[in-house]
Amino acid sequence: MTSETYRAEPAYLDYNATTPMRPEALSATCEALRAVGNASSSHHQGRDAASRVDRARRQLAALLNCSPGELIFTSGATEANNLALQATYAHTGLIITSAVEHPAVLETVRALTGDAPDTLVILPVDGDGQLNEDAFRASVEGKGVALVTIMLANNETGVITDLVPVIEAAHDAGALVHTDATQYVGRLPLDLGHLDVDLLSLSAHKFGGPQGVGALFIRRSTPLPQRPLVFGGGHERGWRAGTLNVPGIVGLGAAAEAASRQLDDEASRVTKLRDLLEGEVLARLPGSYINGASTPRLPGVTSVTFPGAPADAILASMPEVAASDGSACSAGAPSPSHVLLAMGLSREDADSTVRLSTGYATTEQEIHRGVDAIVRAVTHVRAVMGPAESA
Ligand code: PMP
Repeated sequence: MTSETYRAEPAYLDYNATTPMRPEALSATCEALRAVGNASSSHHQGRDAASRVDRARRQLAALLNCSPGELIFTSGATEANNLALQATYAHTGLIITSAVEHPAVLETVRALTGDAPDTLVILPVDGDGQLNEDAFRASVEGKGVALVTIMLANNETGVITDLVPVIEAAHDAGALVHTDATQYVGRLPLDLGHLDVDLLSLSAHKFGGPQGVGALFIRRSTPLPQRPLVFGGGHERGWRAGTLNVPGIVGLGAAAEAASRQLDDEASRVTKLRDLLEGEVLARLPGSYINGASTPRLPGVTSVTFPGAPADAILASMPEVAASDGSACSAGAPSPSHVLLAMGLSREDADSTVRLSTGYATTEQEIHRGVDAIVRAVTHVRAVMGPAESA
């Protein structure tokens, strides 16, 4: 590590962990924090809070092309996933999912089903992180009312699931479909008029909103008996009790509106930055490779493996770059990424993988600074590890 490295400007390349708040969301949240009023109260201030929440619900509904009445505000995608999965499992008794889901899905389905093979099917993925369509069909056909829960975009690799055939096969078989769209919402256009999922989860801080607020979409036509996780005063039409987080919800709505205005421009700008980053890294660090490179991915996500250089050592060698080894979402988990192992990486390569994720506010200068630091760090770690390790 050189002193020059420590003086370098920071580069934030961890948008999949959390994004900076969009200016529109920040000012709307602050403004709502200054106001007083419980959205359940009938006096003027309460009605004012309720109308801010209504507006946010409409803003989010516009981003997703759904009806505001199909949205339930939660504390984030973890809660939205838990709510969706426990309510549907109580109704279906069988869950079909994939090996690369976020822990907010995998841990929940394991807890609900007790991991019993007659109630939980976890499907493998191929080397690109995609489900095999025939294997999926075979798992769902003839099972009656099941719940299929498959993420729309993977948090570690950015790989986008081709969900349309999954939804068709699931619905043909009489199953319900939930998707964890946390990393996709606000990054690429999503039209619930076309994407016929029954339930969808999201989190505001992945698209420029505040942390600690999210939503669950439940399609109005979905035959799902109400089954809250949190009981109390009947908020959110009985689905989620508790005083609404008005400032958070307002920030979520403002972020949704800002994202929907800029979605196409941001997606193409961020894709160009991602391509620049990947081109530079691959050219300057021979032997490195991108996971999921040959399949559709989110614009700003790069999962890159540097054989012979453990990710924790790389990250420790470049404190000026905010990036993540595997998934920052599995707080402090020492085990190798289940996503990369499911895609067929060796344990060593999974442990030598860094996730670089960019977004709406990333600049080209940040990419150049980030690449320079990564090249220095990987070269340094490979030199320290020696030729035997880097073979
Ligand atoms: N699902 C996915 C795919 C995620 O990336 C995350 C956040 N890392 C979550 C769910 C959970 O979101 P939150 O922590 O905001 O509840």
